Amino acid sequence: MNTEYLAKFYKKTYTEKIDALVKAELLTELQADNLKNEGGDLGQDIGEHMIENYIGNYSLPLGVAMNFLIDNQETVVPMAIEEPSVIAAASFAAKIIGSAGGFTTVVSERMMIGQVTLKDVADPSTAIKKIKNSRQEILDQANEAHPSIVKRGGGAKDLSVRLLESDTSENIPSFLVVHLHIDTQEAMGANIVNTMMEGIAPYIEELTGGTALLRILSNYATECTATATCTIPSYKLKTTNFSGEEVRDRIVEAAQVAWVDPYRAVTHNKGIMNGIDAVVVASGNDWRAIEAGIHAYAARSGQYRALSKWHTNEKGDLVGTLTLPLPIGTVGGSISIHPAAKLSRTLLQEPDAKRLESILVSVGLAQNFAAIRALVTDGIQKGHMGLHARSLAISAGAKGAQVEKIAEALKKAPHMNLQTAKDYLSKL
Ligand code: NDP
Repeated sequence: MNTEYLAKFYKKTYTEKIDALVKAELLTELQADNLKNEGGDLGQDIGEHMIENYIGNYSLPLGVAMNFLIDNQETVVPMAIEEPSVIAAASFAAKIIGSAGGFTTVVSERMMIGQVTLKDVADPSTAIKKIKNSRQEILDQANEAHPSIVKRGGGAKDLSVRLLESDTSENIPSFLVVHLHIDTQEAMGANIVNTMMEGIAPYIEELTGGTALLRILSNYATECTATATCTIPSYKLKTTNFSGEEVRDRIVEAAQVAWVDPYRAVTHNKGIMNGIDAVVVASGNDWRAIEAGIHAYAARSGQYRALSKWHTNEKGDLVGTLTLPLPIGTVGGSISIHPAAKLSRTLLQEPDAKRLESILVSVGLAQNFAAIRALVTDGIQKGHMGLHARSLAISAGAKGAQVEKIAEALKKAPHMNLQTAKDYLSKL
């Protein structure tokens, strides 16, 4: 990537932006032409084959967040999102963090969990012993059900058993759950795992005398996690009204509140998900799966808490850490089908799944930093309303150059709302 062409990216016109990405060797000429002509969107031909009862496309704007330095690699991050302030906030945060050394990430093994959930197991302790004694046979059967993933170096690697105790107060009986721990390589692995779980279920029924009620992956991917860390000297946090140390301390306090207060934690984590979802969608991954798993992870202590942590180190720097389960893929699903997902992969310089996890968790941390920093200093409305003004101008019916003119006028208006936008438009 040649970053010299990307300087002051946000000031360029639409065409200049696309051309700069070509010059920076992040897009091919053909991809650039497709973008300029069609917006890189899904065509009817592909859409019809993706879902049932297809009638058209629901488009989201695709943009790029700049300034990301992730494990010493400069990265332009594609984001599909309708919320006006997200890409600007991510780029702003990444610039500050990048100037302080960027993001450092650690990614775990990519192990997915599949479940066979059994009901009516008469003697759970004998059943558990039999399952453990047959560990290798079960793993072999799972791998025989999906041999191609084994050839790729993955497959079912381990097994564990959990007894879900009965809950008489709710009239719920006990269930026995067999977990397989499966390396799905570059895939998110839902189909791989589900095939394996359906493959082993009859043998497990035979071993336990129970009935397999459910045979599917768990989206709570606690064995596929990524952590990003950033360290920011406090002088880089200074604003007009606050010293760097004040901003640092206020960020730490805000994170403490989100750790102890679920009402705040949900909003804190929503800010993180602004970035995560936008990149997950852009990359063609299943964002419902990622959302479900991450929120469960936030509640792993029994209370819903902040996903990130911020503290001050011995040098007085602000240190942020974020760990997330990120069972994403770089193959499978719509990843190799959706034109915008393919384009995003090119922009990301063809990452493997672990690198994509590193990018995602870093974007989440950047988004979190931008949101808390704004909240504990100027408040978020100052930045948001500027961008919201453009949406109001478009809603009022403004076109082309009118949008910016009306947005500028709205920013100075005593009441920024749709009626004011309409009044300005009629005067234009
Ligand atoms: P796919 O089944 O679409 O693709 C995975 C396949 O890609 C593998 O089986 C493998 O097939 C092939 N492949 C090629 N190269 C590689 C590689 N390097 N590593 C791994 N596999 C490779 O995708 P997934 O199994 O990942 O399933 C994801 C889809 O499942 C998503 O669309 C998701 O929405 C959906 N889904 C999600 C559920 C959930 O989250 N609960 C439930 C059900 C479906 P081969 O080896 O034969 O070439």
